[in-house]
Amino acid sequence: MENALTGQIAIVTGASSGIGAGVAKALAAAGATVVVNHPVPATRDAAESVLAEIRSAGGSGTTCLCDVSKEPEVQKMFADVIAQYGTVDILINNAGLQRDAPFQDMTLEQWNYVLGVNLTGQFLCAREAIREFLRRGVVPSRSKAAGKIICMSSVHEVIPWAGHANYAASKGGIMLMMKSIAQEFAPKKIRINSIAPGAIKTPINHSAWDTPAAEAKLLELIPYGRVGVVEDIGKAAVWLASDDSDYVVGTTLFVDGGMTLYPGFSTNG
Ligand code: NAD
Repeated sequence: MENALTGQIAIVTGASSGIGAGVAKALAAAGATVVVNHPVPATRDAAESVLAEIRSAGGSGTTCLCDVSKEPEVQKMFADVIAQYGTVDILINNAGLQRDAPFQDMTLEQWNYVLGVNLTGQFLCAREAIREFLRRGVVPSRSKAAGKIICMSSVHEVIPWAGHANYAASKGGIMLMMKSIAQEFAPKKIRINSIAPGAIKTPINHSAWDTPAAEAKLLELIPYGRVGVVEDIGKAAVWLASDDSDYVVGTTLFVDGGMTLYPGFSTNG
């Protein structure tokens, strides 16, 4: 997939750590110029070090401070990127977080915060990307599509998750937002899909794999027998953003080692 994305501009939200950082590096290695988005001044150094790794591997890009849940900041990010690079070809809607609580104790603030970043943030970024894709249209020397959006969902778009109702609701919401806009904009040659990671080793789920006992318990949920790494998602994102997946529209690609295969039923039921 080397050079699959040469000449294209990609915005990756929440790219200063974890899956976003992995996807940013993978897209850059495939030739894209990558905008490494991060949310607050405190994440700037981490974003700069992702960009430094991209550059030292021969790639190019920039960093961009923007809280994806804030409309004016999202509009400014897209305006700045378009002013600097002329357009945007790929949006990786990756920024996401958890604020877990038993449902009876969940505060409205915890609910709104998770929905605000995970779902409203994806809406705001997708809307700006689509406005630019509609303005530019298809340029065959760039890609067969007018633009590509990849929504970072989760296996929890289909697997219920007790104690995480806000997170699961945000991911279920992403599923139908993604499919609805994929249907709406396919005639304009805009391809919109999701990646649903299973358990990937990142800061978001550190406690689920940072001791051998925790990892062994997690592996009971993963038929393929290993916890995922960010490179697993990076490779999937490069393919979904490239013309190699040109006929893939409005689908969720589960990258989960079989977590959605109901492993509990392999010996029961
Ligand atoms: P992470 O915590 O390393 O990454 C989340 C990123 O989002 C961070 O870089 C954070 O700074 C950024 N972010 C948070 N709020 C933001 C905001 N308002 N604006 C912009 N950026 C913001 O965790 P991760 O595992 O890499 O998560 C990335 C995505 O993958 C999330 O959407 C998450 O739900 C999803 N996911 C992760 C896993 C997993 O196992 N790690 C599984 C399924 C889905």
